[in-house]
Amino acid sequence: MTKRALVCGAGISGLTAGIYLTRLGWDVTVFEKDPELRTAGAGLNLWPNGMRVLEKIGLRSPLSTIAASLDYYRTFSSTGDVIAVEDVRDWREKYGAPLCGVYRRDLSRILVEALGSEKLRVGHQLVSVEQGDDVVCTFANGEQVRGDFVMGADGIGSIVRSSVFGEREFSTDALVRWRGLFNLADVDVDPLSEAEVWGPDGHLGYLPIGGGRAYWFAAAEGITRDPEAIIEHFSGWRGSPVPGLIAATDKSTIIRSDLHDFVHPLDNWSKGRITLAGDAAHPMLPGMAQGANQALEDVDALCTSLDAHDDIADALKAYERTRIPQVAPIVRGSRSLFDFDDQNELVHGDKNPLFDRYERFVERRSTLDETSAA
Ligand SMILES: Cc1cc2nc3c(=O)[nH]c(=O)nc-3n(C[C@H](O)[C@H](O)[C@H](O)COP(=O)(O)OP(=O)(O)OC[C@H]3O[C@@H](n4cnc5c(N)ncnc54)[C@H](O)[C@@H]3O)c2cc1C
Repeated sequence: MTKRALVCGAGISGLTAGIYLTRLGWDVTVFEKDPELRTAGAGLNLWPNGMRVLEKIGLRSPLSTIAASLDYYRTFSSTGDVIAVEDVRDWREKYGAPLCGVYRRDLSRILVEALGSEKLRVGHQLVSVEQGDDVVCTFANGEQVRGDFVMGADGIGSIVRSSVFGEREFSTDALVRWRGLFNLADVDVDPLSEAEVWGPDGHLGYLPIGGGRAYWFAAAEGITRDPEAIIEHFSGWRGSPVPGLIAATDKSTIIRSDLHDFVHPLDNWSKGRITLAGDAAHPMLPGMAQGANQALEDVDALCTSLDAHDDIADALKAYERTRIPQVAPIVRGSRSLFDFDDQNELVHGDKNPLFDRYERFVERRSTLDETSAA
């Protein structure tokens, strides 16, 4: 008999899981609390580990129409000195997929098209989930839906997580990231390169995201509320490309996000026939640009495990046994990249520390000594 999956949350984890499980023969419904899909968030950096999952479920062709595939990742100082140039042109061959930038809105659109809009139920805010002989999701509109399996893909404030594991304690160090959009035609930067610029009290990165657009992401110590202060801070990084792209930014696109991870990571992600994935399971700071990429890896591991096991609870346990140790160093490595006081690693190395972490914790994780994780 066809098994029924109830996926709560239509972010990257939920939509991708919906597509994946449908291809494995499941009857899937994805429930989203908002009346329409979230479009905020500017761009997204997709690394080969996330791209491989999207391509595995048949999205290589639509992705090629929206994503900017990148050739280089440059690192500068705030005065414009080149610190490192990583050539990533061979990443398709080396890691099976390229380094890319995408516009979040475009990614959501191709995911919904691949899922089929009839499988997406917007305006369905989950309020509780229970399990007995089957699993039951209750929504704010009073509707109850029964299934064989529930996936909590409902993000950092997950109701699935709090229903199953109770409330969690989040980090409270008031970290913030700022983002803005600009057109590549308005600035003098390499349109095939992602770049990061490090300076006193902060950093700013930028990357093309397709369609002639690009976005920047930035954090500056002590600037947590005022967009004008962010503009002023980064406009002073003369010699680097930063003042130019700040000047070219449409101010209405500047957004800020509060950043949180857990004080203590979850020991388990699953109970019976309910599990978590993505930010619901492991919120992380965006230091390694891996939140969505790790969410995609969760989906791959979860769906592979569900396909390999007859018993759903066994499949979920196997999934979390694989993924919890893989995600842990990435959460820690992402946090350590927000330590602007400690730039020794950057200044004395010839490699961007982000690359070092990506290659060690993601691509060579089979040989990773967990204790060496930053
Ligand atoms: C500033 C910033 C920059 C980032 N940059 C990158 C990057 O470059 N690369 C990268 O890989 N990651 C990046 N991330 C992380 C990435 O955005 C997240 O890890 C990713 O979006 C998580 O996807 P998700 O599907 O798990 O959760 P979400 O994207 O949060 O989706 C959850 C969905 O569930 C819905 N929902 C919530 N509650 C309910 C409910 N009760 N009922 C029904 N639906 C509900 C929400 O409306 C939402 O649609 C960044 C994060 C930040 C803050």
